[in-house]
Amino acid sequence: MSCNCCTHPDRDDIDAAIVAGESVRSIGARFGVSPWSVSRHHTRHLSPALTGTLLPPGSDGREPFPERLERLYALAEAMYVEAVSAGHGAQALNLLKEMRGQLETIGRATGQYDDRSVAVLNLHTAPEWIETRTRLVRALAPWPEAQVAASSVLELEAGQ
Ligand SMILES: [Zn+2]
Repeated sequence: MSCNCCTHPDRDDIDAAIVAGESVRSIGARFGVSPWSVSRHHTRHLSPALTGTLLPPGSDGREPFPERLERLYALAEAMYVEAVSAGHGAQALNLLKEMRGQLETIGRATGQYDDRSVAVLNLHTAPEWIETRTRLVRALAPWPEAQVAASSVLELEAGQ
């Protein structure tokens, strides 16, 4: 017996709704298939790669750890930019250290960071870090003292 969801013209949308956590009842009503059919399709036919991407086994359905870390990092970066534009050099430096720590954690979580000594090298050559570091130091240009301090924390020449 063929699956009403697999053969459905909107199969991609059905799959997306399942992955997004919409209830089988709601999906069934929306696409004109039975909730039972949606449930069966979910357990038997939905690509493990697709479900694995968004809902890793054992997760509580929240977004995966690396994404949450990335968002945390973006948040720290935004705070950093604010601190810099407000002229809060010390706060900006603390945020830089925070971001550096977060990048290390992201590196560990994504497996790009296995070992402390290797990690330092990886981090310093990671394009995201190099780009961020360069942007951050440039942003400090109006506060030469903070720029020098940040550059030494980041192991950079000022103005680089
Ligand atoms: Zn199916």
